[in-house]
Amino acid sequence: MSALETRSSSGAAVSRQALARFTTLGVGGEAEIWTVADHAQLREAMGAPYRILGGGSNLVVADQGLGERVIRLGGEFATTDLSAGPESTADTLITGWVGGGVPLPGLLRKLRQLGLSNLEGTVGVPAQVGGAVWMNAGTRFGEMFDGLYALEIATPEGVRQLSPDELPWGYRHSAIPRNHIVTRVRLKLVRRTPEEVGAKMDQADLARKGQPKMRTPGCAFKNPGGVSAGKLIDEAGLKGQRVGQAMISPEHANFIVNLGGASAADVHALLSLIRERVGLPLELEYELWP
Ligand SMILES: Cc1cc2nc3c(=O)[nH]c(=O)nc-3n(C[C@H](O)[C@H](O)[C@H](O)COP(=O)(O)OP(=O)(O)OC[C@H]3O[C@@H](n4cnc5c(N)ncnc54)[C@H](O)[C@@H]3O)c2cc1C
Repeated sequence: MSALETRSSSGAAVSRQALARFTTLGVGGEAEIWTVADHAQLREAMGAPYRILGGGSNLVVADQGLGERVIRLGGEFATTDLSAGPESTADTLITGWVGGGVPLPGLLRKLRQLGLSNLEGTVGVPAQVGGAVWMNAGTRFGEMFDGLYALEIATPEGVRQLSPDELPWGYRHSAIPRNHIVTRVRLKLVRRTPEEVGAKMDQADLARKGQPKMRTPGCAFKNPGGVSAGKLIDEAGLKGQRVGQAMISPEHANFIVNLGGASAADVHALLSLIRERVGLPLELEYELWP
């Protein structure tokens, strides 16, 4: 336990920290962070207005921070059980529970080593499992719901286990209401060889060539009417444009990157500039907190 950390009555770790530490963009002011290790701690954490934080890879958090508490999944929600459940067959592995707080890239490395297929299309998504399920993250090579067998969701009314068939889901979307928390999932994986799974992952990863390697929350805007947002921003002459320490990536114009020490205000100014100069309605890909 760090010096600034206290324990709630159920034992959750509570501290005030800058959210910049927990986001891939690296901006964001302070909030009260509750790191929960089990259902009792999660229930207590959900007892006041809250937001659930995953890998922080789709967020721009305000410089002034947040009034609500921010819940992070640790403990039993960050463990991975890939052992074969009783529903498994010779071809298909139905896993034990995988925590919503498990980083997706590490999970995919394990699936590659074990030759377990169905989630290759999500390679390179720097999310946690719960965040990736909540918005059905993926690429044209596949998405999170391809590999789901069961979900456990914590709601203010209690914890539910359900099958993905009970939930409408679609392109980068699931019907899980905001702030219902994906605590654990069971995966439905096809047994292949490590080489076959590795080849599929490499193919999906190759499509990311040209994406910047710097701190970013991913693509800024959805493609309007099928036209590439990156192309529109590039054609508006905005590649390399800077505000403070935030920059429109010279490699890919639909990415705003943090050169080091950027603020959320810098990022907002670039988003406004893009909208003004492109002159078409552009819908944000990432979330602004608050
Ligand atoms: C370099 C880069 C590349 C990316 N490439 C892709 C891509 O190819 N495809 C793609 O789809 N996305 C991509 N993204 C965007 C991002 O990774 C996804 O949106 C991802 O699903 C966000 O998950 P997260 O765990 O980081 O969630 P966060 O960013 O922490 O949160 C995003 C939303 O999910 C909610 N959430 C988080 N955890 C949970 C949970 N356990 N239960 C319920 N809700 C939760 C949050 O409350 C918030 O509303 C990329 C991002 C980056 C930085």
